[in-house]
Amino acid sequence: MNDKPPVLLVTGGSRGIGAAVCLSAARQGWAVVVNYASNRSAADAVVAAIVGAGGEACVAEGDVGTTDGIASIFSAVDKQFGRLDGLVNNAGIVDMPQRIDEMSPERLERMFRINVTGSILCAAEAVRRMSTLHGGKGGAIVNISSMAAIIGGAGQYVDYAASKGAIDSFTIGLAREVATENVRVNAVRPGIVDTEIHASGGLPDRVRDMSPLVPLKRAGTAQEIAEAVLYLLSPSASYITGAILNVSGGR
Ligand code: NAP
Repeated sequence: MNDKPPVLLVTGGSRGIGAAVCLSAARQGWAVVVNYASNRSAADAVVAAIVGAGGEACVAEGDVGTTDGIASIFSAVDKQFGRLDGLVNNAGIVDMPQRIDEMSPERLERMFRINVTGSILCAAEAVRRMSTLHGGKGGAIVNISSMAAIIGGAGQYVDYAASKGAIDSFTIGLAREVATENVRVNAVRPGIVDTEIHASGGLPDRVRDMSPLVPLKRAGTAQEIAEAVLYLLSPSASYITGAILNVSGGR
């Protein structure tokens, strides 16, 4: 009998939604690989909290917007745990509010390289390890989309919204592609969630400004998104694949 805990990789697991997913996953018995791109101390703090509570975790440095970064993340997974049972494609960026006629090709290239290509390449590495076609035992992937994929991001970031639309399509296609290989693939579409991403996109008051527009009249917490992600990763969601769950307070 194999009593080793299942292993979960969370890209961008060091802050915001990703950190909440890591902490919740550890409480539910996952060993967690906490990926970060640049803020090592934030990733270390998540690992310390997990280990301090008796769980298993390690950090994995790597920019999902580069092939070297992705190779280094998965090499950490292989070295630390030698197996992979779950992937949360959470790392993602926004950019300064701009109209389409102000956007540079460099901005678009970075947006899609990190949000879309990074998620697809990480999923590919996960499938190589989890798919029964490759000798794996199966697993689950959850992609973090956004309600922007539906709403469109007009006047702020249509490029970001389009990148999340690509994540939705990818979720449906990959779910069907690997369905017979014991790998489930789903997505969560958060609405407005109180994290540092808004300040990083030049809109530090976005949570305050947008909350009245949400039917539930408030922003969500990272923990509320994590709850949905953990459900989709869990055996309770064993018949759910190709689903995209709005966690947006009705927005
Ligand atoms: P956040 O607070 O800004 O945290 C972003 C996390 O991603 C950090 O851990 C960061 O690590 C990491 N990261 C950024 N670029 C990376 C890269 N190239 N490679 C690896 N890691 C990278 O963001 P968040 O609000 O939690 O957002 C997480 C996900 O939810 C994103 O996909 C976002 O689009 C989506 N989302 C958020 C909201 C919202 O309102 N917050 C709404 C809808 C969807 P470092 O600190 O090391 O850079």
